[in-house]
Amino acid sequence: MPDRLGPPRETPLFKRITLIGLGLIGSSIARAVRHLKLAGTLVAADASPAVIARVSELGLADIATTDVAEAVTDADLVILCVPVGAYAEVAATIAPRLKPGAIVSDVGSVKAAAIAQLSPHIPPGVHLVPAHPVAGTEHSGPDAGFATLFIDRWSILTPTDDTDPAAVNAVRGFWRALGSNVEVMTAQHHDLVLAITSHVPHLIAYNIVGTAADLEEVTQSEVIKFSAGGFRDFTRIAASDPTMWRDVFLNNKEAVLEMLGRFNEDLAALQRAIRWGDGQTLFDLFTRTRAIRRNIIAVGQETPEPDFGRRRGEDSTGQ
Ligand code: NAP
Repeated sequence: MPDRLGPPRETPLFKRITLIGLGLIGSSIARAVRHLKLAGTLVAADASPAVIARVSELGLADIATTDVAEAVTDADLVILCVPVGAYAEVAATIAPRLKPGAIVSDVGSVKAAAIAQLSPHIPPGVHLVPAHPVAGTEHSGPDAGFATLFIDRWSILTPTDDTDPAAVNAVRGFWRALGSNVEVMTAQHHDLVLAITSHVPHLIAYNIVGTAADLEEVTQSEVIKFSAGGFRDFTRIAASDPTMWRDVFLNNKEAVLEMLGRFNEDLAALQRAIRWGDGQTLFDLFTRTRAIRRNIIAVGQETPEPDFGRRRGEDSTGQ
């Protein structure tokens, strides 16, 4: 068991927690909740019978079911861990079974669209506290999760002006118990920040790997053989879950397009510098970007070892 998670609690934070979607993120939360005894009863629900069978085999929850509506009955905290494209359907399914006073939260990588899809279904007396743990890997499914995923990562909460502060505090306490740092911001600001730190980088990775795969002058075997020259790190990011990332781009359209516009302008400036032999512009930018990497290491969001310094099984992409 992960020692850095700390000892189990004597009294649970919530009497009953329900997780919907037991993939990478849901199963990581389940493992941490089980280890820390944060829930009196932990319920796991997933539309996939194969996922639920695996959750039972792994002993990740007290109750595991494909009946998503039944799963939220009497829950104090419900966390949606499904792709954002499934939010409206899941919210409509669970709404009639949510008890007054319950908190509904999520882990989706986009927040304004999450609120737009969830809030019309949230009954009066139920609190919606959207959240995004900025931690992840390129792997999917219940076997990919691990309890320490969220330690020293940031979890961003994006409550609206009328969200009950006590509910926000309860969700803050939950993520802090999992080892996360917590920050609160508006959904719009979250989407803008994540567009440049996560969404556009993923799009660039998907694009460059796609371009390389389509090149006629360079063979596929050469792409694989010489991948250590920078390309390999893009392939790791470009191996991320296709459903999740399709939904991210469809649901954070404006912020991604805004950041892509700026990216294209800066890329054009680099293109011009190369064309005109302007080495100083290239050198200045590369010096600035090296400093950014060193700052990320200095604040503990990355390790300095070469080969991206991944700890085994923890090649977090910080999504
Ligand atoms: P995942 O490993 O693919 O898991 C998602 C699970 O949800 C799967 O078991 C899926 O079943 C299930 N599911 C899909 N639609 C459902 C529905 N309508 N009802 C019930 N279950 C359903 O995905 P993940 O990487 O954990 O991502 C889940 C969420 O976390 C996404 O919203 C994503 O934006 C967010 N997130 C991801 C990361 C990351 O690094 N991956 C990081 C931070 C946040 P099937 O496999 O049968 O579809």
